[in-house]
Amino acid sequence: MNDLIERMQRLLGFLPPSLVRRLEGLLRRLPAVQRMMDEELASVEEALEPALKPYRGEFPSYTRLPERGESRQSILEQLEALQARERARWEEGRVSGAVYHGDESHIAFLNRVYALHSQVNPLHADIWPSAAKFEAEIVAMTAHMLGAAQVEDPICGTVTSGGTESILMAMKTYRDWARREKGIKRPMILAPESAHPAFDKAAQYFGMDIVRTPLGPDFRADVKAMRKAIRRNTAVIVGSAPSFPHGVIDPIAEMSDLARQRGIGFHTDACLGGFILPWAEKLGYPVPPFDFRLPGVTSISADTHKYGYAAKGTSVVLYRTPELRRYQYFTATDWPGGLYLSPTMAGSRPGALLAVCWAAMISLGEEGYLEATRRILETATTIRRGIEAIPDLRVLGDPLWIIAFTAPDLDIYRVLDALSARGWSLNPLQRPPALHIAITLRHTQPGVAERFLEDLREAVAHVRATPGEKGEMAPIYGMAATLPLRGVVDEVLRRYLDLLYKE
Ligand SMILES: *Cc1c(COP(=O)(O)O)cnc(C)c1O
Repeated sequence: MNDLIERMQRLLGFLPPSLVRRLEGLLRRLPAVQRMMDEELASVEEALEPALKPYRGEFPSYTRLPERGESRQSILEQLEALQARERARWEEGRVSGAVYHGDESHIAFLNRVYALHSQVNPLHADIWPSAAKFEAEIVAMTAHMLGAAQVEDPICGTVTSGGTESILMAMKTYRDWARREKGIKRPMILAPESAHPAFDKAAQYFGMDIVRTPLGPDFRADVKAMRKAIRRNTAVIVGSAPSFPHGVIDPIAEMSDLARQRGIGFHTDACLGGFILPWAEKLGYPVPPFDFRLPGVTSISADTHKYGYAAKGTSVVLYRTPELRRYQYFTATDWPGGLYLSPTMAGSRPGALLAVCWAAMISLGEEGYLEATRRILETATTIRRGIEAIPDLRVLGDPLWIIAFTAPDLDIYRVLDALSARGWSLNPLQRPPALHIAITLRHTQPGVAERFLEDLREAVAHVRATPGEKGEMAPIYGMAATLPLRGVVDEVLRRYLDLLYKE
């Protein structure tokens, strides 16, 4: 990939980057550029493949159904071997985010709950009314936590399969609301650059426009820029509490006021913070308002499968009124298969995940969430101070527990490589280049924060001592972050997905 950048520069370097970007489509049709890209992308694939396909040759692979069923025993042995291989890294707290609770007894409890309700499909509310009970109570408990008790409005919502689906559903809701109630043909989402890509996905899937506004120097949304970007077709303004990249909370109060004044919806993306911030506030941390206590906030997404400590596959989307929620629903009245209705994207849904989410929430209780948040924020403070004490590093913004940092004089992606070599898995960011670590309960185990800071210090020292080295993934991230040809980056990502589907 280094070669790609160098060859691209040799070929196109005399052109200004903005021109290259504009001429990209044209340039990529040149046979010389095409050939070069194919060669280089193939070499990227070759570099990635061993890491993504480590089990080839070692475990049986199935590219057609086995003629006769395998014994359950041998299948379980394969599964046990695979999970044993992959377990240590997240269990010992060497990854950012990913597993948010992970205590053995919590997992065992959730697994029992799953087993009891594994056959449930909430699509059949008549057969399993328990599923509707779980879902209604998950929504009610989440709403209560996010300000419903302090306001008059009948806050309501649904459970979805994850943060992305919660966001997709909210954006579809605003699209249909804006069409019906404001006569807007092509509704627009207005979001700061830091808001999750799920908002772009919603715009793509649902034929909406999306406008992204720049961040301020503190990495929070710039309210002035957002005010200027409002158009007649703006249906919803978005803010994050906190944002995924930098873990900072947008000025939700100002942003939601702005939306309210203009008669526009406002969505707080609290996918990350929904189950932390209410408790952080109670613990006395500085938490600016972000929930339904702000009158302009008309919807919120909060992920039960992150800091709600449920199994993967659930999230909650909340609305200020049932009238708004109705725009989310789907119904079909004339199908020969009968009357059909569903609240979210899916038809059949895994009812067991509702049971697991419900059980996780009521087994922790307010006390459990408060204690988990206390531990996470204390560990995060230790880690943030430790990072700030490393002279080469700089923390971005003023985060609580998602800590982004960069190295002004070093290639931060090489620091990522050096951390990877020490068994850590952090998230690379771009614009500006940086890394982040999302602190979870895994990191609150004794010694984890200290080990992380020690490895981080070593990683930085290593990068400082070896300025000529290129690193493993660093060139790829570097290229992806800076290449003006965004279509090439897009192609790399699509090939990465193709690669995942190779046996
Ligand atoms: C995780 C996350 C999402 C998307 O959630 P998924 O569960 O991965 O679909 C959206 N917004 C923020 C701020 C997030 O952290």
